[in-house]
Amino acid sequence: MKILVPVKRVVDYNVKIRVKPDGSGVELANVKMSMNPFDEISVEEALRLKEAGKAEEVVIVSIGPAKAEETIRTALAMGADRGILIETDETVEPLAVAKLLKGVVEAEAPGLVIVGKQAIDDDSNQTGQMLAALLGWGQATFASKLELGADKATVTREVDGGLQTIDVKLPAIVTTDLRLNEPRYASLPNIMKAKKKPLDKKAPADFGVDVAPRLKVLKTEEPGGRKAGIKVKSVAELVDKLKNEAGVL
Ligand code: AMP
Repeated sequence: MKILVPVKRVVDYNVKIRVKPDGSGVELANVKMSMNPFDEISVEEALRLKEAGKAEEVVIVSIGPAKAEETIRTALAMGADRGILIETDETVEPLAVAKLLKGVVEAEAPGLVIVGKQAIDDDSNQTGQMLAALLGWGQATFASKLELGADKATVTREVDGGLQTIDVKLPAIVTTDLRLNEPRYASLPNIMKAKKKPLDKKAPADFGVDVAPRLKVLKTEEPGGRKAGIKVKSVAELVDKLKNEAGVL
């Protein structure tokens, strides 16, 4: 089986996000960019399935600027087999990403697509679900455990009430949650080897997808500062403050 893993290039999770002075978005110039953390977890899971003999090939796909090649190379250095870069300088929204991924799925025919739960820049949590809907495939979102059978995946999902285990028929879309695994680091020899692994370059037009944004960002601003907290001595005092000071009860 072939596993397809989409990876997004995002601002590194350690970077303190700064809003551009004109409020038109967040500062991306000279900011460290990395693979979306949920996508690292997806790559790791795909590699573990391959190492367990459940998959033959792990294919990475990214939609983004030319520099997204670095993100694909990181996944190749972790152990993935080959990459596909769909190059565009537009900000591509989840629906357009899902349409492009549908095109890649139709061309590659993977048995499983492992998508991140959400991208930490737009926090949409939409792409995997939209891709499943466009393909008419089953989906298991927020996976904290994934087992592959011959024709189904058994997925434990993190839901509000705790954990839920479901079976989903293959081919399917699985989206990854934080506790699924701990991604490996790429070793230096593997980083060198990854430079020679195959990487195909495509454009959104190759899939007949218009990636022009449908949403308009009106303004981006910093969240307001938070007031300092206080300690209360008893539950009665807490309830009193919630009722009479905060007005939330
Ligand atoms: P989102 O729906 O934007 O929160 O993203 C969820 C997941 O979709 C990410 O973790 C990625 O696996 C995938 N994804 C989103 N945007 C891209 C992109 N530009 N290129 C590749 N994968 C993407």
